[in-house]
Amino acid sequence: HVSEQILEFRVMPYAEQLMMVVRDITRLKQLEQMRKDFVANVSHELRTPLTVITGYLEMLDSDNLPPPSMWNKAHFTMIEQCKRMDSLVNQLLSLSRIESARKQDKDKPVDVPAMLSLIETEAKSLNQDKHHQLTFNVDKSLDIVGAADELRSAFSNLVFNAIHYTKSNGHVEVNWQYDKDGKPRFSVIDNGDGIAPEHIHRLTERFYRVDKARSRKTGGSGLGLAITKHVLTRHDSTLEISSTLGEGSCFSFAFSKNKLAFMTTNESHKTV
Ligand code: ADP
Repeated sequence: HVSEQILEFRVMPYAEQLMMVVRDITRLKQLEQMRKDFVANVSHELRTPLTVITGYLEMLDSDNLPPPSMWNKAHFTMIEQCKRMDSLVNQLLSLSRIESARKQDKDKPVDVPAMLSLIETEAKSLNQDKHHQLTFNVDKSLDIVGAADELRSAFSNLVFNAIHYTKSNGHVEVNWQYDKDGKPRFSVIDNGDGIAPEHIHRLTERFYRVDKARSRKTGGSGLGLAITKHVLTRHDSTLEISSTLGEGSCFSFAFSKNKLAFMTTNESHKTV
């Protein structure tokens, strides 16, 4: 990262004299560095599973084939690594879709309870190995204006993370309710690993993971919270994170009151 100011000096002829032009290119250099880091990260993330898959495929082609007892493991690992690449590519696509999305795409009424019930179904299936106590508290009268697909990935990233980063038999609570100021607030509370303070402000950076090895084991790419932050910024909201190491975390965000939707398609269904 470039932290100092970078200046570019150029000497040019001007009315039979010489003129020196000084340009501040700090931002330009920072963007260039960010682009380079991004490409390096994507390449690294794709290369790791490819290396594993290539290793197994080479083994199959060799003269001394491994015993059949190993084939199952090889098959399972290759499928896992393919899934990992698939999920990374999907997340990259969704990041680029959000970046190039039009402003008006986020002006549609969103049926939040319906969306959350889909997420709840997915969360339950993810929770099968974890056996957490999952609680969904949803205020049925809540609807907001936004881009449904984007909001769904923002919500689900937080819910799935809470499930992933909490040891078995924990508690994960999902709330979508009005807060004290009357704003609709979405929050996910877990009693999981928690996050040390020095990591919290970096969590929404692309590819940032607290524990790379553990996150990889859960299939994480470090893009989920970057996507969530992007979506929320587009919806004039901010991700709030509070966490205590070893005790748990709370990820939440609120929408401003004027974001509430008046459903025109269903006259009997109106929100305040
Ligand atoms: P990943 O794909 O690695 O989960 P995210 O961007 O969703 O990427 O999250 C970034 C990092 O933040 C994770 O790798 C993990 O270390 C940390 N994290 C996210 N949610 C939680 C949580 N609920 N509890 C503890 N750590 C979390």
